[in-house]
Amino acid sequence: MNYRVLLYYFYTKIDDPAEFAAEHLETCKSMNLKGRILVAHEGINGTVSGTIEDTNAYMDYMKNHPLFDGIVFKIDEAEGHAFKKMHCRPRPELVNLSLEDDVNPHEVTGRYLTPQEFFEEMQREDTVVLDVRNTYEYDVGHFRGAIRPEVETFRDTPQWVRDNKELFEGKRVLTYCTGGIRCEKFSGWLKREGIGEDVGQLHGGIATYGKDPVVKGQLWDGQMYVFDERLTVPVNKVEHVVVGRDHFDGTPCERYINCANPECNKQILCSEENEREHLGGCTIECSKHERNRYVAKHNLSKEFVDAQIAKLEQVAK
Ligand SMILES: [Zn+2]
Repeated sequence: MNYRVLLYYFYTKIDDPAEFAAEHLETCKSMNLKGRILVAHEGINGTVSGTIEDTNAYMDYMKNHPLFDGIVFKIDEAEGHAFKKMHCRPRPELVNLSLEDDVNPHEVTGRYLTPQEFFEEMQREDTVVLDVRNTYEYDVGHFRGAIRPEVETFRDTPQWVRDNKELFEGKRVLTYCTGGIRCEKFSGWLKREGIGEDVGQLHGGIATYGKDPVVKGQLWDGQMYVFDERLTVPVNKVEHVVVGRDHFDGTPCERYINCANPECNKQILCSEENEREHLGGCTIECSKHERNRYVAKHNLSKEFVDAQIAKLEQVAK
């Protein structure tokens, strides 16, 4: 394990995000890092990989930078880079909530909870836990009993909460996300909307929770979805309950693939057997795609492909 993956964010004022992003990209490249960083007027949000030496140099650089005084890094050990390239891009906002009236976490945000406080409070009768990630992240792993908003993407979550207000009436609401950045805004939004009796957020996110030496990731089921080549990482060190389900047959599964149709590319949970059976496609249309990547990668014969498609179409009838 000579590499590391860093995850971090920091709300701060950046005057010219485009100029900052261009310079920061060069800094990261000079440090041999790979990853994805977003820069906005409201701050920075990034995840990068590199050797222990290079990531140490980067963390020192950031901690000593006048704009990022107090920045916290979540550190995962890794066997190599978790990204293929280094990107650093300017964005209108760090977290896409598409609110008509944006939330400034410096002005309003939920109570910060340590992993141990979160672990204790989530077990109280009067408490509901709200997952503020995307459903595809929830589906491979989440806190036991957490509410899963029925939304396509995170920015639809506010409206979903408004439509389901009764779930939160008279309750303490606890939010969580991967590294904490989505909660900073979302818990602030919940407070401003007057949702629930009290709003708390898991400080540092699931990434921090999984490393806490006392709670050891308990009450987390499944894996944590991450936005790099690892796709998922373990959280609960005490027990492992599989909650992911195979896209095709619903059996327990934690293996992600991208749909083999390059124009679809949807991420699904799928066993090796079902991947072969469906030629890597998430639907028959995708399986049949003329540039099917699974077919190309495995050099499958036309006879085999035609026979598989015929079989799938038969089953679909
Ligand atoms: Zn597809």
